[in-house]
Amino acid sequence: MIKQINMTEQRSIAIYGKGGIGKSTTSSNISAALSELDLKVMQIGCDPKSDSTNTLRGGRFIPTVLDSLRSGKRIETEEIIHEGFNGVLCVEAGGPEPGVGCAGRGIITAIELLKQRKVFEIYKPDVVIYDVLGDVVCGGFGTPIREGVAEQVYTVSSSDFMAIYAANNLFKGIKKYANNGGALFSGIIANSINLPIQEEIIEDFSDRTKTTVTEYVPRSLTVTRCELEGKTVIEGAPKSEQANVYRDLAQKVLSNWDKYVPSPLGVDQLKEWAESWSDRLLEQRDTPQHVKCQLECIVPGTELLGNKPDVREIDLLKATTTKRGEKGKVV
Ligand code: ADP
Ligand code: MG
Repeated sequence: MIKQINMTEQRSIAIYGKGGIGKSTTSSNISAALSELDLKVMQIGCDPKSDSTNTLRGGRFIPTVLDSLRSGKRIETEEIIHEGFNGVLCVEAGGPEPGVGCAGRGIITAIELLKQRKVFEIYKPDVVIYDVLGDVVCGGFGTPIREGVAEQVYTVSSSDFMAIYAANNLFKGIKKYANNGGALFSGIIANSINLPIQEEIIEDFSDRTKTTVTEYVPRSLTVTRCELEGKTVIEGAPKSEQANVYRDLAQKVLSNWDKYVPSPLGVDQLKEWAESWSDRLLEQRDTPQHVKCQLECIVPGTELLGNKPDVREIDLLKATTTKRGEKGKVV
């Protein structure tokens, strides 16, 4: 394990993506991996769900900045900054009460408060990670980009169209503020990638939008298990392959200083691009690898069959799918 990296300046990174795509999982594992390198990391959850840092804190929620503000009392910084795994500093911006107010407002308020209290100077984190909901890059959710609060922006995306659609919208947001001191783009973190064709889809989207892919992260049951234990993979399965993927990703984020303006696709271009991939996927439907991947998604544990299933295994897997399809449950 490499330790004690010399950091000459504070890095601030925003990780955007569609809801449920894996931003918090990825952010928390990057934070945990960076903490193993003896770096001081602060992770700021900017999603009204307020669960960004849960796996760094044994699966527990922490009081959010907005909740503390709502109490009306003077806030002590210790009330909003909580230590998690290996000293990672955890903050949750929080959100409005359900049904009331603007969700993005929480981020603006939280960031203002952290700056006002000089939290970044006092705690001196080497790396600050903003984990931001990116379905809509609205005024509030756009803050880390618009005001250059974060320096570098990453997006987590799978090969699913809606995730790519959200990434493309993020690119539009970055482009809009690029000439006015806004944050710039640094890479796509491809998540839940288990098949070559999923990799190809992301790679092609990245080529078309003149962006880069920083890392391909597989979908893995190790992540599921660790999340159930309230842990990152770095903490819960430190010797697993998945932990090493996150360590590699963290190293790449550290050494990646690239910042650029992406070239988002127009609405028609994106539609045309999606249709061309739909045709390719139809051709791929019956390949053995595709069948295997489908089953891994449906029947957890089939990944135990290894990376190269033989014909007998594929037949067995096909039979399992059919049974599931007919009876609506795995038998
Ligand atoms: P987001 O923060 O983007 O809303 P989360 O990080 O909370 O998304 O992830 C949503 C769900 O997907 C979680 O249950 C998480 O464990 C799971 N998940 C994310 N990435 C992976 C992965 N690579 N392998 C398996 N499960 C994953
Ligand atoms: Mg999240």
